[in-house]
Amino acid sequence: MQKNQIKFDLIQMPPQNTNSVVLSVDDMCVVFDPWGRAQDWKNYFAENKLKPLALYATHGHPDHISSAPDLARHYDIDWYMSHRDMDLIDWGNGLLSHFGLPQITGDYKRPLDLSVGQFEILPNVWTEIIPLPGHTLGGVGYYFAQFGILIVGDTLFQNSYGRTDLPGGNPDTLFQSISKIRNMNLPDTTSVVHGHGHHTTIGWLKQNNPYFK
Ligand SMILES: [Zn+2]
Repeated sequence: MQKNQIKFDLIQMPPQNTNSVVLSVDDMCVVFDPWGRAQDWKNYFAENKLKPLALYATHGHPDHISSAPDLARHYDIDWYMSHRDMDLIDWGNGLLSHFGLPQITGDYKRPLDLSVGQFEILPNVWTEIIPLPGHTLGGVGYYFAQFGILIVGDTLFQNSYGRTDLPGGNPDTLFQSISKIRNMNLPDTTSVVHGHGHHTTIGWLKQNNPYFK
C-alpha cells in the first residue's frame, strides 16, 4: 500500500436512508454520520482493513448517529456531536424502531462535545467545523479545504433544505446557515455531501437549488 493514501468514501448502509462518509488515511479512518447497524460497520471495517479512530455527527438526529454509541464502545473510541443536540438522542429512539434498528438507551457511551474551528482530524488532513444550526440547534458542517469537500448534513439538499419542524428547528436560523455557506465563497467545484440524496457541488447548487441562489 502506498503511504498516506487519503480517501473519502460515500457509504449508504442498510436500511438505506442516510449518507455516511468514511475518511481514511492508509488503514486509519473516521466516520461522519454513522447511520445503520453497528454490525454492518464492523463488517465494513474488517473487509476494508480499516481501523476507526473516531466518529463525528453533523447533528443529533437518530439517522445520523444510530450506530455511534455501539461502535464507540466496541472500538474504545470517541464519538463527537454538538451537546446542543443532546436531548435529541432520547427523542429519536422511537424513530430508530421505525427503521428496525436498536434503540440508544441506558448506559450508552455519551458523545463528546464539538468545538468550532480547524483541527487535524487524521494525519495531514485538516477539517473545519462550521456551526450550521436551524435543522437542529447543534448542527455543524465539516469543510476540507485541501480537498474541496463540504459535508453539510441536513442543512441543505440537492433541491431543497432540511426540515425545521422538529425539536430545535428554526427556519430563520436555517436560512442564516445556508447564507453562511453561500458567503464562504467556496470554489464552484467544491463537492457538497448532503445528509440524504445525491451529492452536488457549490456551482451546481448556485444554479439549481432555489434556496441557495
Ligand atoms: Zn436530520
